[in-house]
Amino acid sequence: MRVAISRCLLGDNCRYNGKTKPNAAVIRSAKNVEVVPVCPESAGKLPIPRPAAEQRDGGVYMSDGTDVTRQFQAGACKEFDRVKKSGAPLAILKAKSPSCGSDLIYDGTYSGTLTAGDGVFTRLLKQEGITVATETMVEEMHPSVEHPVAIVLGTGLGSITDLVHVVRRIDYHDIEGFPDNAQPIEGHRFEAAIGALDGVPVIVYPGRIHLYRGYSAAEVTSLVRHAFRLGCRDIIFAGATGAIPGKVEKGLGILTDQINLTGRNPLAEWEGLRDVESPFVDMNDLYSPYMSSIARGVAKDQNITIGAGVFAGVLGPSFETRAEVSALRQLGVSYVGMSTVNEVIMAHALGMHVLGLTLAANYSGGCDVDHQSVLATAKRYEDDFQRWVRGIVHLL
Ligand code: SF4
Repeated sequence: MRVAISRCLLGDNCRYNGKTKPNAAVIRSAKNVEVVPVCPESAGKLPIPRPAAEQRDGGVYMSDGTDVTRQFQAGACKEFDRVKKSGAPLAILKAKSPSCGSDLIYDGTYSGTLTAGDGVFTRLLKQEGITVATETMVEEMHPSVEHPVAIVLGTGLGSITDLVHVVRRIDYHDIEGFPDNAQPIEGHRFEAAIGALDGVPVIVYPGRIHLYRGYSAAEVTSLVRHAFRLGCRDIIFAGATGAIPGKVEKGLGILTDQINLTGRNPLAEWEGLRDVESPFVDMNDLYSPYMSSIARGVAKDQNITIGAGVFAGVLGPSFETRAEVSALRQLGVSYVGMSTVNEVIMAHALGMHVLGLTLAANYSGGCDVDHQSVLATAKRYEDDFQRWVRGIVHLL
């Protein structure tokens, strides 16, 4: 997978003052990908050393008042062309910089104050649909023993648990908030596995419970709160769904956003949920663009065909009527299923980074929709799914 990375984060002395800002997490990540090193300010032929520059009034000015807008734009365009040609879906860029900053940049007062905005180079990448992450994000999301990756698996996808070098198992019934009487359906196991997947610390939950069996949204999301309390900050959900005909094909896919049609929301039960500070949570970037880019990159590298689209979570357990399939298509939905949406809301409310993977085992509204056919399809995709998840976890 190709990733554009700010040269100063890799240890190059290309900053305005002739210095560098090497970042250990970024350098570690760079070892696992094909790096496209970028420095738009060097490409703009700005002298080193020079006074610090910041964006102001639609331009870029050095602290001595020199207008360097033209050089910043020229350098940004040059590096943008290189990144575009490379096909990199992801860039890891130095935070706050007038060229490379993302979402937050210095405000033009040269006082260290920040304001909302993107660097000149970052704007071009985002317009092109290239995901931009900062070094802080990479640091935060890197798995460790203190912060393992949580992986919650749905029907037929639990076999990845067998690849985990397990150091401890936890019966779901010992998890706070998990219903005492819940029993797994075929294709699920109610025992979390804590250990390492190819050396990466993980906690795998090879089964879940569903609203359609009468459980509350708080109960359904108890595994997410458990993962959070055990230190997980990244969480991968994978479940079987139905593909909306005309939108996506059957097979593996990435969830890009969601519509909660279950009529439930765990945050409506938040008073009973410790860990949640407020139920009023913004739902922007619900699914982590950074993790999704890695998932796309790994799939491409490993020649795994994937789809991508909006997921609609419904209560179930009956499957969708033809009218419902048609309505979902008009709503822009690609995948529909009976789990995940409430768990994703819970994880996001806890500040976790969420990746949504799916196996569309059948076409929604088709005649091949039963539990056995889902299990049979999951078996067919087992190898691709395992390679995909292992590759993703390795790059986090
Ligand atoms: S332009 Fe970007 S890569 Fe170059 S020194 Fe500034 S922050 Fe680093």
